[in-house]
Amino acid sequence: MTERPIAVMWFRNDLRLADNPALLAAVKWAKENDGAVLPVFILDDVISDQLGGATKWWLEKSLTALNRNIADLGDTKSDRALRLFKGNAKTVLETIADDKSVKAVFWNRLYDKPSTKRDTEIKAALQNHGLTCESHKANLLFEPWDVKTGSDTDFKVYSPFWRACLKLPTPREPKSAPESLALFKGEVDEQINIADFDLSPKPVNWAGGLEERFSPGEQGAKDQLFDFIDDRLTDYADLRDRPDRRVTSELSPHLRFGEISPYQVWHAANHYADANPGKGKTASKFIAELGWREFAHHILYHATDLRSVPLQGQFKHFPWSDDAKGLRAWQKGQTGFPIVDAGMRELWHTGYMHNRVRMIVGSILVKHLLIHWRDGLAWFDDTLVDACPANNPFSWQWIGGCGADAAPYFRIFNPVLQGEKFDPKGEYVRQWVPELRDMPEQYIHKPWEASPLILKAADVTLGKTYPEPLIGLKEGRERALEAYQDMKKAA
Ligand code: FAD
Repeated sequence: MTERPIAVMWFRNDLRLADNPALLAAVKWAKENDGAVLPVFILDDVISDQLGGATKWWLEKSLTALNRNIADLGDTKSDRALRLFKGNAKTVLETIADDKSVKAVFWNRLYDKPSTKRDTEIKAALQNHGLTCESHKANLLFEPWDVKTGSDTDFKVYSPFWRACLKLPTPREPKSAPESLALFKGEVDEQINIADFDLSPKPVNWAGGLEERFSPGEQGAKDQLFDFIDDRLTDYADLRDRPDRRVTSELSPHLRFGEISPYQVWHAANHYADANPGKGKTASKFIAELGWREFAHHILYHATDLRSVPLQGQFKHFPWSDDAKGLRAWQKGQTGFPIVDAGMRELWHTGYMHNRVRMIVGSILVKHLLIHWRDGLAWFDDTLVDACPANNPFSWQWIGGCGADAAPYFRIFNPVLQGEKFDPKGEYVRQWVPELRDMPEQYIHKPWEASPLILKAADVTLGKTYPEPLIGLKEGRERALEAYQDMKKAA
């Protein structure tokens, strides 16, 4: 390649220049050694396995934005400032390191088992070749091994976990992006183009709704954060459960890909609280949600296999139903429960769904329909832009009653009451289920209770223009409770 010493910056779920400790360390190393930085991204099996349709779409946009930002900082016009590779990450890095000028590799830590296993092996191999190898803390505020109960174990319940986090030293202030980047500009073998990653939607571009809603990339993440802090954080504590009001930050996909760090978010919310006396409660509520993200990663790190194995062992005996028709109706937003169908259609169209609605659609699937939470997890993995190795399985186990700090299985959401409480005028339902647009408020969440006259006036024919509910609410609830009892007997 070159005689100049090279530091490799290995980007993964940290697709940003600001507050990126591994990048700063690589830049510092290059400066001290009169060397250059080689930024790389490797699409290996570990990353591929964690991508669905919507996250692939996001990743392509995010890598394109990162490449542009690196090129600007590194003073090059190259559309290949970020070097892309496909294949086994260890092989790729070892091949790069075959060049004697490559002396150091830097990355930020991940917490899922396949990534930690891969990274440990790579660190050992590269150190064996005599390279400097550094991993940094960037994607979590509190490392999973630093938060311990009084008896030195990991946490299983959120509230004491978060209390323990808040007693640890305050998360550091975010760091700025490097001021400049001595970029390695030579050739590197086996590097490919972004099109070779094959991430674009196929066979048709189905991502129009995602494009309308989100701007992947570091700038999009910053804009999203500051719009939220300026306009919506003020109402967060009071209205965060209302899908019809859209007051939450919608930062989840940006955090998923590390286009913004939790440190930037934490400090922005705290600065807002300092500058706005009386707004501490809403800021703390928001920060506590970041705490759920930390908790999900804590559980992910310590669990054997969060995607497949219920944290509460008795759920291995749960009599799940193999209801392919019910699953398909749920996926397509055709269950006959308006708030559920609205959520599932919002997800399909935009790649996103409000948290409250995620809980409602999840509950209908695993309780009224008795379909395995892993089927819900798989669908969310494919369709959510924020689908994440920690939050998604963690939340599905929580919904399924078998996770950490889970809502007990026998506490069953009623989608009508949930709809009436959190979408009181039915505006969210009207937006996503237009065939119910003219239903009066009183029946928007339960059209099956409306008289034939009311249905006719709203131009609704149940079973024709809009489905009948897949199952009666009472019948579904009782069936779920029986299944729960059967599991307890079998366990
Ligand atoms: P805000 O309310 O603005 O919260 C700020 C940030 O805190 C979020 O961006 C997110 O990073 C974190 N956060 C908020 N709520 C939670 C939570 N309950 N658990 C963990 N972290 C949270 N979140 C994902 O990021 N990826 C997923 O794949 C995912 N799957 C989910 C599946 C189910 C069945 C359920 C019930 C929840 C899931 N969540 C997931 C959690 C939550 O719904 C989303 O994080 C949230 O809706 C994102 O919107 P927001 O950024 O506006 O959240």
